[in-house]
Amino acid sequence: MFCHQCGSTASQQWEGLCKNCFLKQYPLLSLEADLQVNICSNCHAQFQEGKWIGEGLPEEEIIYQTLEKNIKVSSLVEDPEIDLEILQMRGSIAECMIIARGKVLGEELTQEYETSLRLDKTVCPDCSKFAAGYYESVIQLRADSRSLYPEEIGQADEIIKENLNRLQEKNRMAYLSQRIKIKEGIDYYIGSQKVARKLVHKIREILGGFSQESPRLMGQDKSSGKDLYRTWISLRLPEFSIDDFISFKDRFAQVKSLDSRKIVVKDVSSLEKFSIPWKDYPAIEKLASFKDIQKTTLTAKTPKLIQLLHPTTYETIEVQSKPDFEELDIGDQVKVIDLKGKIYIIVEKNRKRS
Ligand SMILES: [Zn+2]
Ligand SMILES: [Zn+2]
Repeated sequence: MFCHQCGSTASQQWEGLCKNCFLKQYPLLSLEADLQVNICSNCHAQFQEGKWIGEGLPEEEIIYQTLEKNIKVSSLVEDPEIDLEILQMRGSIAECMIIARGKVLGEELTQEYETSLRLDKTVCPDCSKFAAGYYESVIQLRADSRSLYPEEIGQADEIIKENLNRLQEKNRMAYLSQRIKIKEGIDYYIGSQKVARKLVHKIREILGGFSQESPRLMGQDKSSGKDLYRTWISLRLPEFSIDDFISFKDRFAQVKSLDSRKIVVKDVSSLEKFSIPWKDYPAIEKLASFKDIQKTTLTAKTPKLIQLLHPTTYETIEVQSKPDFEELDIGDQVKVIDLKGKIYIIVEKNRKRS
């Protein structure tokens, strides 16, 4: 048998060639000479199979991934090793070099390939919405019957910032389009409604309060024909703060903690803790602030009664003793609160407001 290429006689042939001639013309891999990828110039998301996917990858990484995806290693190659190199960028075109190594018919081969990859840059729909100031939802942060405290605004700002940073990794629409301070409070314009709801929940976990949504029809999506809604979420923080005093269903109590579900309070008479769900907020009345707590002197003590000086009139008053008051001694300065003309002893330390 003669080799078609060199004419030498060979006992074994591959596609009519001797081993030498076959290996010389055998490609380790195949790929197109010109590759192209669509990316968003802003977020580097890629347009693939009709969808914008992924983002945040550096251009170099996008180039390497696109090369890898387009390289096909030939069937006879064993232990292939492929090195990719970007030789230079000419505008949006990357000139690339691929060095391939592998064994074919037991022989070690090395080959070099060159290709170019064009990065076509546009702006993805999410980035153009962001650029246009688009938003699906407005969180209206307010307080009930009072102004927001500066520390509440600071906490809400921080919660929104932290959670948006986290949510942005998965949701491109997790952005704050605008933050507007108005007389009544703060309005936060949020890219996605789903994200706005999550933010409201996160704020309520820390600051409590209750929320209400009002969707408004804004028109129709031109491409899908679906109705477009924008949602206003009013988040109203309670009139009271932690350590303030309230009345609820004829019980007087001090607010101890709150979260997104409930308000935990401590009855000032029985000293028992109980919780009130937010839906019962309208039945709560604020009686006094933690700032109204006064100090007075304990003048006498029996197993059943404690005698105090009234903090403002200095008259002697008597309060029923409780196991919690055990450690109080004659001469001690005790904390008291005047609620609707009656004096209650407050034994727990008050947390300081920052
Ligand atoms: Zn030959
Ligand atoms: Zn983008």
